[in-house]
Amino acid sequence: MPRRMRRRMNAPPIYLDNLATTQVDPRVLAVMLPYFTRHFGNPASATHAYGWAAKEAVEQARAQVAALIGAVPREIIFTSGATEAINLALKGVAAFHRQRGNHFVTSAIEHKAVLDCCRRLQGEGAELTVLPVDHWGQVELAALEAAISSQTIAVGLMAANNEIGTIQPLAEIGALTRSRGVLWLCDAAQAVGKIPLDVEALGVDLLAISAHKIYGPKGVGALYVRRRPRVRLLPLLDGGGQERGLRAGTLNVPGIVGLGMACELARLELAAEAQQLEGLREVLRQRIATTLPGVELNGHPVQRLPGNLHLSFAGVDGAELLLALPDLALSSGSACTSGSTEPSHVLKAIGQEAPASLRFGLGRFTTRVEIDTAAAQVVAAVKQLRSRADEHPGLHHQPALAGSDNQGSDS
Ligand SMILES: *Cc1c(COP(=O)(O)O)cnc(C)c1O
Repeated sequence: MPRRMRRRMNAPPIYLDNLATTQVDPRVLAVMLPYFTRHFGNPASATHAYGWAAKEAVEQARAQVAALIGAVPREIIFTSGATEAINLALKGVAAFHRQRGNHFVTSAIEHKAVLDCCRRLQGEGAELTVLPVDHWGQVELAALEAAISSQTIAVGLMAANNEIGTIQPLAEIGALTRSRGVLWLCDAAQAVGKIPLDVEALGVDLLAISAHKIYGPKGVGALYVRRRPRVRLLPLLDGGGQERGLRAGTLNVPGIVGLGMACELARLELAAEAQQLEGLREVLRQRIATTLPGVELNGHPVQRLPGNLHLSFAGVDGAELLLALPDLALSSGSACTSGSTEPSHVLKAIGQEAPASLRFGLGRFTTRVEIDTAAAQVVAAVKQLRSRADEHPGLHHQPALAGSDNQGSDS
């Protein structure tokens, strides 16, 4: 096993893990700070100016979040993040509609927040259908339609995948769920602020948002709950009745202010930023894929998040590849358990069995110089690991330059 290679002198690793979390934008931090100190009031305090100032800030943030997704402010419920929003949505509608039915539909590539929530409901007696996805990671609409029955309460399908970046056929999912009278919870933690999303145009009923994926703070998010026609759900928490009784607990005012600003910035800069990220991503992809054989793109070639590049490499081990890239902060993934990393249920679901994959998550603060450096380092690391495997045949069971012929994929 190689030790971690020498780091560039004094430089922190290049951050290419923006799908795991993002740096707080300095403009977001600036608007948050006064709400820790000067304006520290509780928005539920209706008898003095401290409370009024906090309430006004929360309501402004609610409007900013709503504006980004085409909702009205009353449809936004603040939570501790997308995980809580998803739990509130799925468990809340399950509890409210138990008399009407007890069947849920989701997909094999959802985030654990959705999958484990559905598994919990299943453990409590619900019926669950987990839809497969195609090689690109999209659900098949015919399979979705066939899964919906008279007992179906809700469908939990994400807007864009956090590993492979694939965007689902959103308008079609919305049209189908609406015509069949079932609710659609859309996990949009990765998609909000990165691709245009309009809850009216798409027919979404419940939509989960996370601040820290869009240059806001950790520990805050929101659930969109449609009012027309009204989506009914029960709260998870009992307490002070905040957020129209759906989410009790004193509001995280600085966090909410930060989420609001993050949404405002995303709304104003989404188009330009998407173009910028796509440009950088294509440089990275071409540099790597035209220099190295045996590289495969995971996820949809076109319908994908602008900042996401997910590649599989034949003939190298995933854990060794990460060790050979000490200057890059990024995520790896593979469908098998050989290394120390968790196996990826997403790669398994799309039939990608290569032993090494890298997820590049480009973000607002990624520079061209960083992309050039990252591309050169990935190329050098893969070449080095493959040549070592050639010198010591038998170390790896994968042939060094196996294209995609025996990797369990069809491209
Ligand atoms: C990050 C993420 C979540 C969880 O969001 P938190 O705010 O961290 O709880 C859920 N779904 C997807 C797709 C995500 O990327």
